[in-house]
Amino acid sequence: MTASTITRFAPSPTGYLHLGHAASALFAVRNAGPDGRFLLRIEDIDQTRCRPEYVAAIYEDLAWLGLRWKTPVREQSHHMADYQAVQDRLYEMGLLYPCFCTRKDIQAEINRIGNAPHGPDGALYPGTCRHIGATERADRIAAGESYALRLNMADACRYVAGPLFWQDRVAGKQIAIPEIFGDVVLARKDTPTSYHLSVTHDDHLQGISLVTRGEDLFFASHLHRLLQELLGYDVPDYHHHRLLTGPDGKRYAKRDQSKTLRAIRAEGIAVADVMRQASQV
Ligand code: GLU
Repeated sequence: MTASTITRFAPSPTGYLHLGHAASALFAVRNAGPDGRFLLRIEDIDQTRCRPEYVAAIYEDLAWLGLRWKTPVREQSHHMADYQAVQDRLYEMGLLYPCFCTRKDIQAEINRIGNAPHGPDGALYPGTCRHIGATERADRIAAGESYALRLNMADACRYVAGPLFWQDRVAGKQIAIPEIFGDVVLARKDTPTSYHLSVTHDDHLQGISLVTRGEDLFFASHLHRLLQELLGYDVPDYHHHRLLTGPDGKRYAKRDQSKTLRAIRAEGIAVADVMRQASQV
């Protein structure tokens, strides 16, 4: 007997949900199937951008669509100690280092190098703080300097030794190339985590067997596969779906207030019509 599929929808409450979210949530529900489980996760680690009213709206909008999820819902902001523990593990493995550069410092260094390599999130970090010695690091941290914790990508890749693979239901078997992210930020002084760290941890913790999400996050899976290997986590399958676009051919965005599910509801549009549009991914 094959194990039943566990999927999740993991919105960030930084705005109201729009039709694209409805499509993504419905996609996850359908892929769980009648014998599987569909979970909801609130990805609210960025407390400067997330708002309680958007969290409340997520529950309300999904319920309006008639979607049902298994409880408990994991709200990430309640689990910062878990992420701190993951960060500590990576730190003790010698794979994280503090980076004291400001955005301006990084840009200046990139300009100086010229022709810096680019990854999915823009120019790669040029490695300025990678070789700062232990004493200077400790002194600067003790002096209260702000810092981010970056993954030493070369060391991390050496640590896992050998190619890593993941299965994407659209793109097929993929060889992971986490190097495209360079020394990516995994945590900050004031926030013990990042999207990449918490999503990888939670997908493992919640036993997600199929990660469904939009194709805009396809490249993130290269990095998540590396983190899974470093942390000894299970490897789910992936299905990156195409993004729903509006009549103008553009994808829906949170900043476009007129396309939010609550605006659609206020217009009196029937749920069945919304679901018909949402099922097109
Ligand atoms: N929280 C992410 C977002 O709202 C999605 C994360 C994921 O599905 O992996 O874009």
